[in-house]
Amino acid sequence: MSTTVFAPPPIITMPITGRTERFAVGRVFCAGRNYADHVVEMGGKVSTEPPVIFTKPASALVCDGADVPYPRATSELHHEVELVLALGKPLADASPEDAVAAIYGLAVGVDLTRRDVQAKAKAHGAPWAAAKAFDHSAPIGPLTVLENPMNAFTGPIALSVNGAVKQSGDLAQMLWSPPQLLAHLSTLFDLHIGDLVFTGTPQGVGPLQRGDYVEAQAQGTTGFSFTVI
Ligand code: MN
Repeated sequence: MSTTVFAPPPIITMPITGRTERFAVGRVFCAGRNYADHVVEMGGKVSTEPPVIFTKPASALVCDGADVPYPRATSELHHEVELVLALGKPLADASPEDAVAAIYGLAVGVDLTRRDVQAKAKAHGAPWAAAKAFDHSAPIGPLTVLENPMNAFTGPIALSVNGAVKQSGDLAQMLWSPPQLLAHLSTLFDLHIGDLVFTGTPQGVGPLQRGDYVEAQAQGTTGFSFTVI
């Protein structure tokens, strides 16, 4: 096998509640506009079209409760709390039933967004990479292995800043449920073991400042917290 001129990039892993092994992360897909109340608060129209899909690099994940540095090139960093699906089987052109069977575990994550940068991109019809895929843009809690998919996608999802609740919704409010969303995503991409899917955020997104203490929770996941530094 050939050698490489520089050391290969590190494998990104996240912890699994109750296990010593970690979960090796492949790609990170994200759905936007998947809760009607958030679509409305952003000035959009609710439609039956599939959610917008974008990605973050796996290296953007912040695990194990590490601090999150306030990113450069923004003065409007927003929080978006989201249920995250972790795949334990590959999927391509899958049915919603097959998609559910491919979910290894759930986590709660925060899709950090440079809202000012995103607003400019939207105004110009430009891609969202600089608004969404920056370093440290995806703090996430540990994976919880999914034991009972039948009851997994309903229940509260919430985020608080310095103890004050800012986002409070229910997973059942998703316009495209996790099985439907995964099935749709698998029509666009060959999904692999290790891929993560952020499933969108309910209303209440808002700004974060240096020093803020953020707590995130979602039904069926292990909650977590981080500090913006
Ligand atoms: Mn989001």
